[in-house]
Amino acid sequence: MSTAFTIGIIAVSFLVIIILLAQLRRALDKATHLSDTVRQLRRQLDTTREALTRCEEAKEALGEAVFDPVIFVDNDRQVTACNNAADRLGICKVGNSLIAAARSYELDSLAGDTIAGRAELPREFALHNRLFRAQAIRFTGGAVIVLRDVSELQRLGRARRDFVANISHELRTPLTAMSLLLDTFRAESANITPAQQRLLRQMQDQTESLTQLVQELSELTQIESGQMPMRMLRASLYDVVSTAITRLLPQAERAGLRIVNAVPEAQRGLFDPDQIRRVLSNLLHNAIKFTPQGQITVFVLADEEADRQLQKLRAEPNGTDLTVEDVLIVGVRDTGVGIPREELPRIFERFYKVDRARGQGGTGLGLAIAKHIVEAHGGRIWAESTLGKGTTFYFTVPREG
Ligand code: ADP
Repeated sequence: MSTAFTIGIIAVSFLVIIILLAQLRRALDKATHLSDTVRQLRRQLDTTREALTRCEEAKEALGEAVFDPVIFVDNDRQVTACNNAADRLGICKVGNSLIAAARSYELDSLAGDTIAGRAELPREFALHNRLFRAQAIRFTGGAVIVLRDVSELQRLGRARRDFVANISHELRTPLTAMSLLLDTFRAESANITPAQQRLLRQMQDQTESLTQLVQELSELTQIESGQMPMRMLRASLYDVVSTAITRLLPQAERAGLRIVNAVPEAQRGLFDPDQIRRVLSNLLHNAIKFTPQGQITVFVLADEEADRQLQKLRAEPNGTDLTVEDVLIVGVRDTGVGIPREELPRIFERFYKVDRARGQGGTGLGLAIAKHIVEAHGGRIWAESTLGKGTTFYFTVPREG
């Protein structure tokens, strides 16, 4: 072997060694980097694990802090978790279907409808002799259902209704007697002074107001307690509106107002004619009271506009399931003083009056009665108003079928 060849081999070996060393260096660098990444990942994993544990603890604490039973179900309506309150109720059977765990068709269908994405309103159902209101919310993996025991509320409501019914019953006899005594006194009091006449008239007015209050209170209590069942008939809406208008015509004429029945003559619906007439009378009575001049119109909304109104109701917190296929929307429009926007949600409350200084008399019960009647028909009542321009009350009436 020549010296040149040996030197060549040494040079090549040297080069190979340098290349190998460089690769080794790169590999070592990579390994260091990799172990840094692994360390970083491990740190992140620890942080995530801690966050998860905290979440789990928070979820458990939240579950226990909520005294109402809470149940989680997956998309197949299998119970996946619940809190202690649900456990105490005996419905926390993880792994079982909701229907097997709670034995309630209402609860199961509420969960089903919620998971299917249908906007669901709270439902009431009985369990172990108690009344519960259930509300469900959907999430990606299923739904969470919260139950609220409303038995006590129901009992208190019943006690309040009984109390009001008894009071109004007891007040009726002395009020009738007072009214008769005042009539007799008036008939036999030809020689009293004009001032005494005025006092006597005021006494009669006050007695009449009290009698009306007692009458409306007892009506409201009867409707609320279901003692006034609705007689659902296929009936002419036009006729019912006409009767209500005819009865209030003298009052409207005295106030110089026109009332127009714009309901199509062939329009029919499925409702209790006496009760819907009462709703219309209350609305027309108010429209007359609060309209200094102009016109009052009763009409039925065309399907498109009715759909728009129902969509608005659907967007509200208590929502609605009603559609234009189920109901007609009747409107009573006036050109009166209007109602401030912030008062609109409260006008259907018992005894609520927008502005007591308006001095228009009234008990504050007319709209509460109207609301109960409409709700007993499975419907809704609401109002739109512009101050100084007028108010339109809307209520639904079931379609004929
Ligand atoms: P009231 O016996 O006082 O009329 P309602 O329950 O019928 O009781 O009405 C409640 C309140 O709503 C009324 O006192 C009035 O302030 C307001 N209101 C009702 N209807 C109208 C209307 N058409 N225009 C203006 N305000 C109205």
